[in-house]
Amino acid sequence: MKAVCWFGKEDVRVENVPDPSILNPRDVIVRITRTAICGSDLHLYGGFIPSMEQGDVVGHEFMGEIVEVGREVRKLKVGDRVVVPFTICCGQCWHCKHELWSCCENTNPNAWMGEALFGYTTAGLFGYSHMTGGYAGGQAQFARVPHADVGCLKIESDLPDDKVLFLSDIFPTGYMAAENCNIHPGDVIAVFGCGPVGQFAIRSAYMLGASRVIAVDRIPERIALAQRANAETINADEVGDVAEAIKELSGGRGPDACIDAVGMEADGHDFLAMVDKTKFRLGAQTGRPTALRECIQVCRPAGTVSVPGVYGGLVDKIPMGAFMNKGLHMASGQTHMIKYMKPLLERVERGEIDPSEIISHRVPLQDAPQMYQTFRNKQDHCIKVVMDPWAERRAA
Ligand SMILES: [Zn+2]
Ligand SMILES: [Zn+2]
Repeated sequence: MKAVCWFGKEDVRVENVPDPSILNPRDVIVRITRTAICGSDLHLYGGFIPSMEQGDVVGHEFMGEIVEVGREVRKLKVGDRVVVPFTICCGQCWHCKHELWSCCENTNPNAWMGEALFGYTTAGLFGYSHMTGGYAGGQAQFARVPHADVGCLKIESDLPDDKVLFLSDIFPTGYMAAENCNIHPGDVIAVFGCGPVGQFAIRSAYMLGASRVIAVDRIPERIALAQRANAETINADEVGDVAEAIKELSGGRGPDACIDAVGMEADGHDFLAMVDKTKFRLGAQTGRPTALRECIQVCRPAGTVSVPGVYGGLVDKIPMGAFMNKGLHMASGQTHMIKYMKPLLERVERGEIDPSEIISHRVPLQDAPQMYQTFRNKQDHCIKVVMDPWAERRAA
């Protein structure tokens, strides 16, 4: 089959690799009909995630049709159409039983790596390094899905792939980020970063009862898309001081919650951002937390900072004084996918949201190397890339 393989920093290629097969009795094989590039795939592309190996198949947002089932699969059958969550969960361990799905204890065969870095392992992830299990990803024509009964979301309506594909990651991720803000009617929520997760965080904050959402970015088309969801927007390149602009927009009190939908590769222009860039380049820290710092600084006292943005290891100069003295709460985590997929599918079915509105590019899988570059460089008004693994390449 064809699959997108990682070979090094800024080097992904579409290669022919062996088809996956059933390895465990609870596996299914999915013939993938749609797959997407996630913002977090750009951290792999940039070479910032350790424990990648040459030839690893990447991708963790995918859906398709089941073509083979293991002998202990109970709820799924050949021909079912499913969305696959990016986390792999056993359904049996303490964390799974408490609906803390992304902390599954049983699905990372390289648990020792997680333990060394985080104290305890978390769930195995598709296509996201050997530290999270070394599972082959879904930017491919087929994928093996372990513990399929636990994770796979069956799509029984005739909604097109483009409307349900993002239930595999970014819609639940944006939703959990908003839910983590513990929104009360009348609340003002600030969202840093209007990429795909930021867009879903904005829409979810309104669904959960926020009265106003203030969104910050630098890219005009992302700001325009946030405005379409009724966010009040701030272009960080146009206002001198983002913190001051947010303070003004929130009546001088500050937002009730701030969402960092940027993560470890934030672009900043202040002194600390310059220090970050240097230390990052030297390998002395593993992220540039400009957005996180701003969230802590801008949030009103006793408010909440919610962090869906991805971080890997260590970051510096977190304003712990502001965090402690203001009595902030922080909530984060890889998304507890299985808790959210079904209820959010129902919202899509009821027409409350059309996730496909954020798609900017629909391309054949073969175009992946070019699209990684375009997406990373935010060129060609790129917001979200969706790929068809079976389409022929366009004529040049
Ligand atoms: Zn993702
Ligand atoms: Zn588990």
